[in-house]
Amino acid sequence: MQSKTFNLDELTLEDIEPKQSAENNSGNVGRQCLKCSHVRLASEGATPSYECPKCGAIYDKVEQLLSASARLAR
Ligand SMILES: [Zn+2]
Repeated sequence: MQSKTFNLDELTLEDIEPKQSAENNSGNVGRQCLKCSHVRLASEGATPSYECPKCGAIYDKVEQLLSASARLAR
């Protein structure tokens, strides 16, 4: 088994399959990006709801990696 490395800067849309509800852009208003700490605004609805409008990180992906890292850190 090879050890995993986490590089948030390499996250792209290709790394995740958007959920069917991804087209509902109001879904993540007020959600905070765990990568850059930007809180999503309603006016940023042009950006897909699964993606941070500021840094482009995928919310679920970042949270997944962070929780995985937290487990490894114990
Ligand atoms: Zn961000």
